[in-house]
Amino acid sequence: MIIIISLAYQNKVENIEKNIENLLGQIYAAEQKYGRKNGSVRLLAVSKTKSATEVEKAISAGLTDFGENYLQEALPKVESLRRFQPSWYFIGPLQSNKTRQVAENFDWVLSVDRKKTAKRLGSARPRQLGPLNLCIQVNVSGETSKSGVNMSEALPLALQIMGQPGICLRGIMGIPAPTHEITEQRKAFRQLKDIFDTMNDHGLGLDTLSMGMSNDLESAIAEGSTMVRVGTAIFGQRNK
Ligand SMILES: *Cc1c(COP(=O)(O)O)cnc(C)c1O
Repeated sequence: MIIIISLAYQNKVENIEKNIENLLGQIYAAEQKYGRKNGSVRLLAVSKTKSATEVEKAISAGLTDFGENYLQEALPKVESLRRFQPSWYFIGPLQSNKTRQVAENFDWVLSVDRKKTAKRLGSARPRQLGPLNLCIQVNVSGETSKSGVNMSEALPLALQIMGQPGICLRGIMGIPAPTHEITEQRKAFRQLKDIFDTMNDHGLGLDTLSMGMSNDLESAIAEGSTMVRVGTAIFGQRNK
């Protein structure tokens, strides 16, 4: 009882350091439980709507990778935290007039769903930064409100993007429709894993399967996620 109350309290006061400790324990436990190698699941902290000060707390607690959805919101944080050299991941819908600033300020883009965007990112990428890492976003639940390619379009797009200059295709990212049903969660994640495996059967050599968020990360790890993207469980509820 006391433990439950204190966990809820920590989330409320946004005890970021404690939340990260709990989360890393949860990821480790899931790796053990589902026969995944220790350290095979990376943690991407999603910091959208959160301040640079909050991100700095997460950096102090040892995190190095941060995801942002909105360019204009992200740029000041990227600037003010430069001395810590975190890696920045663009995870939101990407308009083509924003590709240059994304290519110049981010290390990864997880939300690619068009060849044109991948090409533009690659040609805008400053040489000295090395290739920009990309994942194709796959719309696994077929929700019209969500970006991403349909499942059948993922492999053809990957084959087109592969080898473009200035970029390195690393894998796929998916956001299934939210559900508390574990069987439903695992079914969607298994579909993403199948697509990922099919791509590698075609010799694409991908290493990143980004799936799982605060509410479904255990199911995602069970099905083979290599990168969970977690916001709420680290930083608390987002201010709308
Ligand atoms: C906001 C967001 C997340 C984090 O979601 P939480 O439920 O807060 O963990 C993960 N991935 C993407 C693409 C997001 O936009």
